[in-house]
Amino acid sequence: MADAKDQAGKSYAPATDLVHLGREPAACHGFVNPPLYRGSTVLFPSFEALEAHDLPYTYGRNGSPTFAALETALCALEGGDACVLAPSGLAAVTTALLAFVRAGDEVLITDSVYRPTRRFCDKMLAPLGVTTRYFDPHVGAGIKDLIAPNTRVVYLETPGSQTFEMQDIPAIVAALAGRDIITMLDNTWATPLYYQPIKNGIDVSIQAATKYLGGHADSLLGTITANARAADRLKAGHLHLGVCAGAADTDLCLRGLRTLDVRLSRHHQSALAVADWLKARAEVAEVLYPALPGAPGHAIWKRDFSGATGLFSVLLNPIDKAQLARFCNRLQLFGMGWSWGGYESLVVPFDPRSYRSATAWQHPGPALRFHIGLEAPADLIADLENGFAATAGS
Ligand SMILES: *Cc1c(COP(=O)(O)O)cnc(C)c1O
Repeated sequence: MADAKDQAGKSYAPATDLVHLGREPAACHGFVNPPLYRGSTVLFPSFEALEAHDLPYTYGRNGSPTFAALETALCALEGGDACVLAPSGLAAVTTALLAFVRAGDEVLITDSVYRPTRRFCDKMLAPLGVTTRYFDPHVGAGIKDLIAPNTRVVYLETPGSQTFEMQDIPAIVAALAGRDIITMLDNTWATPLYYQPIKNGIDVSIQAATKYLGGHADSLLGTITANARAADRLKAGHLHLGVCAGAADTDLCLRGLRTLDVRLSRHHQSALAVADWLKARAEVAEVLYPALPGAPGHAIWKRDFSGATGLFSVLLNPIDKAQLARFCNRLQLFGMGWSWGGYESLVVPFDPRSYRSATAWQHPGPALRFHIGLEAPADLIADLENGFAATAGS
C-alpha cells in the first residue's frame, strides 16, 4: 500500500497523509480508489501453496486488501505496529479488553467511560473472573496508588464522551512506566487527526470509526491499533474471537478518511461558535467543551490535542421535565438520537447520576449533549434560540 512516508522517504502533514494513505492507483488500473473486496473463500493456486499457507490473504475473515488499506492508513496515522478492525466501536472495545485479560486480573477504568464499555465490564468480564475498578477521571499521577498486583489493564477515555473530563495522559503514562500493565485509550472524540495515543505512550488506541472516521452516519466500524509491545497479543485475540468488520463499512470508512481534515476543522469551528453562544445564555449553567476557553479541561486540551471535534455537553439551570421536552421537541435542525460524528447535528438529554460509581455527579439541572454538524452555525443558533423560547412557554 502507498505509505506516504515510504515514498522517497518523505514525511507529510496529516492532512496530506489522509488523502494518500492506503491507496495505490497504479495497482488498480489507475482508478483513484481501491476496489471493494468482498469474500469469504480465497483460492490457493496449488496444493503446495495451500499447504504452505503463506499467501498475503488466506480467508476473508483473516484479511483482505480492503481491510489492509484502512489498517495500513491507521497504523501510519497513529504510529502503531498493528491495526485490526471490528464490526462496531463497541466490538473494538470488547475485543481489545478480551485480548489482554485473564481470570483473576483486574482492569482499572475511568468513571467517565462510554456507558456500554462499563456494561461489558460489569456484565461480561465480572462473570469471567475479571474485576473492574472505576477511578476518578482526574486521577492523573494518583493512578499509581490504585494499582494492585493483579492490575493488567488501565483503560482511559479522554475527554469522557458525555461529561468531557480531560485526562492527564502524560501523568498517567509516566506513573505506569515500567509496569506489566497495558494502557488503552478510547480516542473516538479526538480521532487520530487531533490526538495520537500511541505516540504519547499508550499501548492500545481504540476508535469508534462509526463516528468521525466514517463521518456520514451510514456505517458501523471499530478500529484497534497497538504499539510493538501489544501488537501480537492484540492480533491473536482478534483472530481467536473471530472478529471481522464488514467490507462495505470498511470501504465507507476509507472514503470518510479522505475528507476527515476538512470536516473536523468545520465541526471544531462551528462547535466553538455554538458553545460560545450557549455559554452566554441565562438558561445555561456550564458548557463542557474542552476547546472552549475557560471550560473544564481547557488547559489539558490545549497542551495535548491539536484540534477539537463537534461533540460537547451543556449543564442547564434547573427546569422541569416538561420544559426540557418542549426544548427538545421544538428543535428542527438537531435530531434526537444516539451516535454522533456524522454531518448532522444532534441532541440528547443525559443523567450520569445513576451509573457513576467512583465519583458523584453533582449537577441538579438537566444535561444535554450536542453534536454540532456541518450546518451553518447561525442556523443552529437560531434553532436553539427557538428551543429556549419553547422552554419559557412561548
Ligand atoms: C459510539 C462510541 C463507541 C461505540 O461505537 P459503536 O460503533 O456505536 O459501537 C465507543 N466509544 C465511544 C466513546 C463512543 O462514543
